[in-house]
Amino acid sequence: SLVEDPVAALANARHEFGEHGGVNMSIEASATFTVMEPSTMRRMFAGELSHDRDFFIYSRHFNPTVLNLSRKLAAIEGTEAAYCTASGMSAISSVLLQLCSNNGHVVASHSLYGGTHALLTHFLPRTSNITTTFVDLRDLVAVKEAIVEGKTNVLYFEAVSNPTLTVANVPELCRIAHDKGATVVVDNTFAPMVLSPARMGADVVIHSISKFVSGGADIIAGAVCGSASLINSMMDLHDGSLLLLGPTMNAKVAFELSERIPHLGLRMKEHSNRAIVYATRMKKLGMKVIYPGLEDHPDNMLLKSIANKEYGYGGMLCVDMESEERANKLMDILQNVTRFGLMAVSLGYHETLMSCSGSSTSSELNEEEKGLAGISPGLVRMSIGYSGTLEQKWSQFEKAFSIMWLGHDSK
Ligand SMILES: *Cc1c(COP(=O)(O)O)cnc(C)c1O
Repeated sequence: SLVEDPVAALANARHEFGEHGGVNMSIEASATFTVMEPSTMRRMFAGELSHDRDFFIYSRHFNPTVLNLSRKLAAIEGTEAAYCTASGMSAISSVLLQLCSNNGHVVASHSLYGGTHALLTHFLPRTSNITTTFVDLRDLVAVKEAIVEGKTNVLYFEAVSNPTLTVANVPELCRIAHDKGATVVVDNTFAPMVLSPARMGADVVIHSISKFVSGGADIIAGAVCGSASLINSMMDLHDGSLLLLGPTMNAKVAFELSERIPHLGLRMKEHSNRAIVYATRMKKLGMKVIYPGLEDHPDNMLLKSIANKEYGYGGMLCVDMESEERANKLMDILQNVTRFGLMAVSLGYHETLMSCSGSSTSSELNEEEKGLAGISPGLVRMSIGYSGTLEQKWSQFEKAFSIMWLGHDSK
């Protein structure tokens, strides 16, 4: 294949040994760094040395341990550089503030994570006069028309959208945006390993590391993957959004996360493996299932043509229960009676997590916006876990289905 496998790329990334030859790198927990020559300090601040990352100044600027984790993410996403942040939202806001001037313009999919939607709809117009035109990402003509040459700074979308699981035609969207001089920023939180947006032309890839990349549901973190010039501009002492707004990742957190990166590929395979089995079986039970790996999903052919081989079609699936009441009833049985999963927001955990998107993580959208994004009131988003055996977990789902539809357990 011409496209580099993300796990292969990760294995080729520079390996950092510990201070005493440890197989893991040492944690560089220092906030500040000594220089041996007084003149070095002046040269670092003058920007003469800071681009050579072997010089470190202060840990709100580059930190060696955070940089080590960042290199791994850059390798996975196939970008020249990356840097990690304290959350997914800080990665998103820092990139947009760096790329958009005052009075800037963004074209974005109307199907986005609720926090991102609110940032674009309310916060950025209020604070920076950065406005957004929301479009239906599947309508390429509408996307093209919305991007104004010389005015639009960024085309922003999620590779697989939260929560509706729309798959973006990344190569086509990049061509359209680049023709008009806009920078393409893609949030790949839902599909690490499965999709590689930068290898298809995207300029910047964002992650909420809090989700699949972490996998532990215990850490809030994010990453910006892109060109070295973008990452360096974000760390600029006079004009850099990361340096000046300061959403810094702690080095101890970076170390902990870097230990989880080697099994991200394995975890994604198993999330995907279980998700497609459950999606297929739920559909056979007559449920309204949304899973891009199923042939009846409108983006199935597209996803098959752009997905990396061997990682499946992702660990997220949705079932449309038609009303919030029925959605809540199903989740209640699944958690409290049959123990199939947990009622919680977020994703990428080893246990299955379930939430009713319209009244939780997408509640920032008003009714009209939810309609445009395709979020029905009974939409249950599931992040499929891999704990327990597949058949054990499926029998817990079937049992809940029987209770829900037949009023009793059929077995
Ligand atoms: C969770 C999420 C975010 C925000 O990330 P945090 O780490 O919670 O700040 C952004 N985009 C998507 C798609 C998400 O699911």
